[in-house]
Amino acid sequence: MASINPSTGTTLAEHAPHAPQEIGRRLIAAVAAQRLWQAASPRDRAAALAGVAATLRARRDELARLATLEMGKPVAQAEAEVEKCAWVCDHYAEHGPAMLSPTPAPSDASESFVRYEPLGVVLAVMPWNFPYWQVFRCAAPALLAGNAVVLKHASNVWGCALEIERAFASSLPPGLFATLLAPAAAVEGLIARPELAAVSLTGSEAAGVSVGAAAGRALKPAVLELGGSDAFLVLADADLDRTLDQAVTARVQNNGQSCIAAKRFIVGAAILEPFTAGFVRRMRALKVGDPLDRSVQVGPLARPDLRDDLHAQVMRSVEKGARILCGGQPMPGAGYFYAPTVLSRVTPGMPAFDEETFGPLAALIVAGDADEAVALANRSNFGLGASVWTRDATRGRALAERLAVGCAFVNGIVKSDPRLPFGGVKRSGYGRELGLEGLRSFVNVKTVWVK
Ligand code: NAP
Repeated sequence: MASINPSTGTTLAEHAPHAPQEIGRRLIAAVAAQRLWQAASPRDRAAALAGVAATLRARRDELARLATLEMGKPVAQAEAEVEKCAWVCDHYAEHGPAMLSPTPAPSDASESFVRYEPLGVVLAVMPWNFPYWQVFRCAAPALLAGNAVVLKHASNVWGCALEIERAFASSLPPGLFATLLAPAAAVEGLIARPELAAVSLTGSEAAGVSVGAAAGRALKPAVLELGGSDAFLVLADADLDRTLDQAVTARVQNNGQSCIAAKRFIVGAAILEPFTAGFVRRMRALKVGDPLDRSVQVGPLARPDLRDDLHAQVMRSVEKGARILCGGQPMPGAGYFYAPTVLSRVTPGMPAFDEETFGPLAALIVAGDADEAVALANRSNFGLGASVWTRDATRGRALAERLAVGCAFVNGIVKSDPRLPFGGVKRSGYGRELGLEGLRSFVNVKTVWVK
């Protein structure tokens, strides 16, 4: 498997997949390490996790540079990602032990309560788009709860996968967190293996269908964090300048390759003209280029096929009546760059409305009023996040309650936060990460009843 720099198309490193015997050895080691880890107190587990956070902070710059080289995100965003990984470790180190305390559950017993026990070894199947964060937001709570974690990372970020293993090994017992260098085709067989107790996938809808089916066949719990087509609802009374700045960031963060990037901009008819003019001006002004250059705002797409897919979505939307207001094409030269693009007159039935668009492509959709905006937002097979922009926070909150999503934000960009549960509904998946719910995703919620 090759790591290829998407800014230049040059090969950074070649990694040989692990042989089946090595995978087996790592799984057996994880099982053994987990048994001892489960017996350690939550406080001791927390101290080890805090040690991982310290390692991440100490190695922030080199880890960030590697992510930028392997998948193309602007380097300042990669640094922020490493910091966020340290935060999630610290967050669960500080709050996790209390979250795991047994909960009294009064009944007809003399004593009845609920305990939260680990499941065993959790398989994490992860994507390349936040090559550190996706792994840590799954692994930090799962480890604190007493599980072991084995990682099957996306095939284009195996350098990051090996560094993540090193970071955990700096403070956790050997073998408790292990990277398995394996292709996607190996996942179904892994899920069926007796050493594994559960699986967590962050990835595409197609991978979700396959992992969900394999977990079902093996009768193992699964968390599926899948794609999204988040709506960004701009009401007529929105603070235009602030909303415009946030709209651009919400779309192009991580080069537009985020599950919770705003993708469908549903704009009130009364504000459509000034919003469109300001949005196109800002999208045109974005600096696209080498993501190691700190003045660059948008880097390349992570792989050439992803750029081809995005361009095909633009072209198919145009065939159905959308208009290109800026961009609309791959950029010439080396690397997999795509010009920041705005499409207007987007309606249901077009790829820019119906499908997930993973790149710097914004779809403008007009809504007559707030009710129509909510109806359009909900007219999606996805249900990950959505945001509402209005000067009237009370009204914004009421609209947020009507959105069929896992995360609804008012006057803020949808983001994941260790303190808040994160996940989707409909074809965006099921289960939750982060918050209390995330910690309890991979535990046996065990009732104890004593007379
Ligand atoms: P992907 O192609 O689905 O890959 C994700 C992971 O699943 C990779 O490790 C991949 O391995 C593996 N995989 C792919 N097909 C599989 C299959 N049929 N069975 C088992 N495993 C399979 O997704 P991606 O392109 O890396 O990431 C982008 C997608 O992830 C987008 O749809 C995005 O919205 C979603 N995402 C969701 C969230 C969320 O929180 N909801 C967060 C981030 C990203 P290989 O690399 O070896 O193919």
